[in-house]
Amino acid sequence: MNTSVEFWGVRGSIPVSSSLYNDFGGHTSCVSVTHKKNIFIFDAGSGLRDLGEKMKETGINQATLILSHMHFDHIIGLPFFAPIWNPNFQLTLLSAHCYEKGGLKKFLENYVFKDPLFPVNLSQIPAHIKYIDCPPRESLTFFQDYRLDIAPLNHPGGGSGYRLHCPEGPSVAYISDTEHVPGHDDPNVLKLMHDTDLVIYDAMYTEEEFSKKYGWGHSTWTEGLRLAQKAGTKRLALYHHDPSHTDDILLKIEEEAQKLWAQCFMARQGMKISLL
Ligand SMILES: [Zn+2]
Ligand SMILES: [Zn+2]
Repeated sequence: MNTSVEFWGVRGSIPVSSSLYNDFGGHTSCVSVTHKKNIFIFDAGSGLRDLGEKMKETGINQATLILSHMHFDHIIGLPFFAPIWNPNFQLTLLSAHCYEKGGLKKFLENYVFKDPLFPVNLSQIPAHIKYIDCPPRESLTFFQDYRLDIAPLNHPGGGSGYRLHCPEGPSVAYISDTEHVPGHDDPNVLKLMHDTDLVIYDAMYTEEEFSKKYGWGHSTWTEGLRLAQKAGTKRLALYHHDPSHTDDILLKIEEEAQKLWAQCFMARQGMKISLL
């Protein structure tokens, strides 16, 4: 297996927990892409904790964590990510979100690793952390041959979508959280999706819900399908599920969506798929 994608948290807004969420899971946004020995993580929602435990078990000592934006559901797992407490761990933290707002390190110092929100300061974290603040429109190269494309999304306070190209391997687009304008193609989103092997897309609402939530910064599964097909995407993971969407609701949506396009599926916590 060359490249694998694992969903550690697929929920938006807030973690949920009850027997109504057994199939799809309750952790918030976190997805890993593993290609050879390199691991790229998209977002640090509550699902990041489980990934950290797995990495501890397997002895992985480096990772790149890419943040879409700084809403709680995308960063709440960071203080509980076990590798940051290991002095031999090398973490690269990347985001476009703080580029014009003082930088990622300052944000974490001022708003996450600080009393009274958390009892340990950022300077006391033992892992080696490298911070990359990149402009929201950029292409970056890592480890000489991985490329990351970045584009701004339509979300309150801003946010970025990403596309990771693995060398001689697949590409994965991570597009969460974003609101579409009905009847208009978002060129940033289409560009990130173009000819991608897998797109992970903010499908928080049904069309009916969306009509009551303009300005909330999220999209629908129907828009995800429309854009992915237009962009020539191979597979589409519907992601960032609304906390009110129980297993029954998500299963019904998945059935409806797959009737329209068999290449789409609802992302589930614990799901692992291989590409290539
Ligand atoms: Zn979110
Ligand atoms: Zn958000």
